[in-house]
Amino acid sequence: MKLLDGKTAIITGAASPRGLGKATALLFAQHGARVAILDLDMDEASEAAADLPGQGHQGFVCDVTDRAACMVVAEEVIAQFGHVDIVVNNAGITQPLKLMDIQPDNYDAVLDVNLRGTLYMSQALIPHFRARQNGSIVNMSSVSAQRGGGIFGGPHYSAAKAGILGLTKAMARELAPDGVRANAICPGFIDTDITAGKLTNDMRAQVLAGIPLGRAGTAQDVAGCCLFLASDLSAYVTGSEVDVNGGSLIH
Ligand code: NAD
Repeated sequence: MKLLDGKTAIITGAASPRGLGKATALLFAQHGARVAILDLDMDEASEAAADLPGQGHQGFVCDVTDRAACMVVAEEVIAQFGHVDIVVNNAGITQPLKLMDIQPDNYDAVLDVNLRGTLYMSQALIPHFRARQNGSIVNMSSVSAQRGGGIFGGPHYSAAKAGILGLTKAMARELAPDGVRANAICPGFIDTDITAGKLTNDMRAQVLAGIPLGRAGTAQDVAGCCLFLASDLSAYVTGSEVDVNGGSLIH
């Protein structure tokens, strides 16, 4: 059964070949959606879009920290696709810093991409969603928000991802009367390029020891959750945070 036939989706930060956004784009396309891949580099975004099965997918340049750029791209996608049903706010960066090492530019970079970007891209689409009385917003938080880091990101990353949880719940409350849903996903340790080459073997072993399912997650594990939250299977789910972490937070 195809869950997204006739639907269109915007996914930010989806050009990274092994990333969560790209895996989500692939699964959405397999389920019949037309997908707009947004990222910082036009060639990479276009290549990722060309990789997807089916017709009409497209890459766009968009730095999500730039509010005007988000507005322009949202309008372009709506004009070209006819409508947008889903946005996955996936673009994110992290930095493995200790509390006292966070400088103003570190704070700005991490808060801006993760949190400000989630707000701006959502704001760019909300009027359209409201007008259609339909829409699903999926925001990528992290287990770091819930347990104060412990894998890779610094405290500013934990704060940004925790901010996303609050923002998601507030959006869900405000948008529910218009039939628009907002949910967050908290991935645990997922093998992608965000940590590639930066984790020592010791760090990796320590992280794996804390995961009851005994393995790192895959990008596909997260994509499956995005598909659920984007599709009508989750029609009565809003304001939730869904853990995709192999059981890391069972307590
Ligand atoms: P990734 O580094 O593979 O991909 C992130 C993408 O975001 C890249 O393509 C990058 O170019 C893009 N990006 C960065 N800044 C941007 C900006 N300003 N505007 C638009 N795009 C921008 O990372 P990933 O592991 O696929 O992570 C995806 C999301 O999942 C991130 O929000 C990350 O914080 C979150 N997450 C990842 C893990 C993990 O273990 N991999 C765990 C929890 C949460």
